[in-house]
This record gives sequence, structure tokens and C-alpha cells, in this order.
Amino acid sequence: MSFAVSRSLPRTVLRSYGTVQGPPAASLANRIPNALIEATTATAPRTNWTREEVSQVYNTPLNQLTYASQAVHRRFHDPSAIQMCTLMNIKTGGCSEDCSYCAQSSRYDTGLKATKMSPVDEVLEKARMAKANGSTRFCMGAAWRDMRGRKTSLKNVKQMVSGIRDMNMEVCVTLGMIDQEQAKELKEAGLTAYNHNLDTSREFYPTIITTRSYDERLRTLDHVRDAGINVCSGGILGLGESDEDRVGLLHTMSSLPKHPESFPVNALVPIPGTPLGDRKMVPFDRLLRTVATARIVMPGTIVRLAAGRIALSEEQQVACFQAGANAIFTGEKMLTTDCNGWDEDRAMFDRWGYYPMKSFEKPEPLGDAKTTATPPPAGDEPVAPVAATA
Ligand code: SF4
Repeated sequence: MSFAVSRSLPRTVLRSYGTVQGPPAASLANRIPNALIEATTATAPRTNWTREEVSQVYNTPLNQLTYASQAVHRRFHDPSAIQMCTLMNIKTGGCSEDCSYCAQSSRYDTGLKATKMSPVDEVLEKARMAKANGSTRFCMGAAWRDMRGRKTSLKNVKQMVSGIRDMNMEVCVTLGMIDQEQAKELKEAGLTAYNHNLDTSREFYPTIITTRSYDERLRTLDHVRDAGINVCSGGILGLGESDEDRVGLLHTMSSLPKHPESFPVNALVPIPGTPLGDRKMVPFDRLLRTVATARIVMPGTIVRLAAGRIALSEEQQVACFQAGANAIFTGEKMLTTDCNGWDEDRAMFDRWGYYPMKSFEKPEPLGDAKTTATPPPAGDEPVAPVAATA
């Protein structure tokens, strides 16, 4: 029927609707690096990434990069499941460190009042509330450099950890640097994950923090991993770092002995009074590029949209989910900054077809990992990285 109608139309009308102009010539936008092509067909994470390979992936034209990252995401995870996580500050402010972005450092006048550690009961109540609202992971942060000489605090944290585990929630803490023994104690209390961010590249790091070194941070990650606790470690974008620094961070993470179970991607929320108080939000394309690259180089890791999500539109958040992000912080507050709330996030999930990841649910690829992922179209030849400067 429709064929007959078409045939009856004058040729000039048919032509005016024509959109096909022959196959596109092979162009830069259709060409992708070998490292990315190989990553889209991988069935297991690899930890031998070279910095050059990570750079090539990061610098792939963005539409190709996000297409590939979505293919990898679908290979390793349920693409509709997003982990909902709530973060509570259990000890605010008064920290001796000089992290240039942080409202809680005692070195900067940010107007934040230092508090004592929250009582165990109060924290457990907040965790119960988070669970009732749909969160499956509860994280607790304390503004400390490290846990040296904090025996009573550690005892209280362990009570919080085991109490939250009794609610069948995953539990994560971020308490600064810890040693082997402290990691072991936290593991015995039932800790699921320990957060300790590397923040940025090794090269850029000293311009942001001077009171503890990159290697000290890596040592804490070793202690956490050795104790059998999941490592949660990520970065902050918008500190003034370059693309090369973002590549450096991704390379360090993806070449650890084991990939972190969780990689938080934070967008700096500038805090007046801190040295970085006047920084602008990282451009969205850089944030998306970082999410997509993390998904590709650490395919089994949970990529977490962390601080700064509140500054993203819903469409930008969804672009991040499609590129491979699969966890959010949700609730009343995120440490000292505002956070998207549970109701808002549930409504967003409903609109776009997402649902919360269950507690302790190891993300599983859909279908046969060997056959379901479709590699992006390869160009004629591998392409040199496209320069993208901050
Ligand atoms: S160690 Fe943590 S709490 Fe202390 S200043 Fe740095 S980021 Fe802030």
C-alpha cells in the first residue's frame, strides 16, 4: 500500500525528503584507538594499562567514547541498576590537613563549626532512615588526618559498622589514613568498603595538598585491600587540573593491583574561604569523558557520581548513567554540601527507567558477555589522540 502511494508521488517530492547522501567518508570522528576497540571486547578487567593507552581512550571523540563505554557497561553491569548511597558526616570540621578544596580543614575560615563525633545511636537512626528511603549503602565520614590515638573513636565506628550491617546495608567509612591493624579491626566489624580518594594525578597532587603525600594515600589503599575490604577511591574534577592530570588519576587507579570496587567522580563544589573557593565547575564534557573512561578502563568497578551532582541537570546525570556511572549519593546532605534528595532521585529513576541496585548485589552483565556487547565501528586505522585541553 505505502509503496503504491510512494510511486504515485512526483519524483521531485520524493527527492525533497531524501536524507541519505551516500556513505560518510572515513573521518576523524569515526576512527577510534586500538586500546578502545580491545576494551570493548574484553571479558575481564585488566590492570596493565599504560598511561598512553588510558590517554588514547580518554581523548577519543566523545560520541565514540560514550558509545563504547555504554557497550562496556552493558557487558559488565545491569545498565538500569543504580546504587543509592547515603553519606553522613559523623565528625565535622577541625581537620589538621590542608586540602585546598575542603570546608573542614581548620586552616581555612569557611564558617564551618567543628563538632564532636556523633553518638552511635544517632548514626544508626540516620542509617535506618536512609534505608527506609531506599538507600542500600551507608557511608560515614570523619574529618581526621588519620586514626592514630583514636581508640575510643575506632571502637564507636566499629559499633556503627556492625549496627548498620545488621540492617542488611552495605557500609563504608572514610576516616583518613589507617594502618594495617585498624583496617583489620574494621574488616572484623563487618565493613564493606573504605573510602580514601587519591583526588588527582600524582603530579598535580602537591599543588592541592601538602600535609600528606600521594604515597601515603596509596599505602592506606594497600592496607584496606590487604584486609579484604573493598577499596573506594576516586577523584575530584575542577581543581584546576588538566586533561593529562585526569588521565594520570585514571591510569593510577586502573593499574592498581586490583581495581577499586568503587570509583567516585566528584565535581568540585567551591567553598568560599578555601584556596579553591573561586574555581568554576568543571566543564561537563570533561566530567562525562572521565566517567566514560573510568567505565572502560575499570569495567567491573562501580562508578559513582559524588559531590557536585546537584549542579548537573537531570539530562546531564542521565548522560553520565548512559556512559557508565552506576551509583549516586542521595539524601539530606553530602558531608558539608547539599545533595539531591531521595524523592527527587526516585522520580528521576522512574522517568528514565532506572531502579535501585540491591544491597550486596554484585553487578552482573546481561546475557552472554562474549556476544552481547557490540564494539563501536572501527575506522580505517587507529587514530592518534585528539588534543583536549582544560
Ligand atoms: S583530610 Fe579530609 S577532612 Fe581533612 S582537610 Fe582533607 S579532605 Fe578535609
